[in-house]
Amino acid sequence: MKTTRRQFMIMSAAGAATLALNSKVQAQAMVAETDPQAAALGYKADASKVDKAKYAKYAAPQACSSCALYQGAAGSAAGGCALFAGKQVSAKGWCSAYAKKA
Ligand code: SF4
Repeated sequence: MKTTRRQFMIMSAAGAATLALNSKVQAQAMVAETDPQAAALGYKADASKVDKAKYAKYAAPQACSSCALYQGAAGSAAGGCALFAGKQVSAKGWCSAYAKKA
């Protein structure tokens, strides 16, 4: 079967759409503060909003970006966390499992 120019264009467009969709699916979702595990750990996407009465161990400038469990690259706005597989936490976030990076 000979592919016509029209068929080629349609197939190219479909291929490009598939690629765009794949890159969207690969972008990991952010951890929601309402996620049961996040809520149990007192996770806040903005560390300044941490309930300091409940989590007395929190002290500024602690944040996910300086946590040993943070997997994001230096300077990134968000990255993975060993506690939340397949999701991302905010670099400016914090939770009660915070452990200062060595
Ligand atoms: S364990 Fe560390 S990186 Fe993960 S959410 Fe808590 S403070 Fe952020």
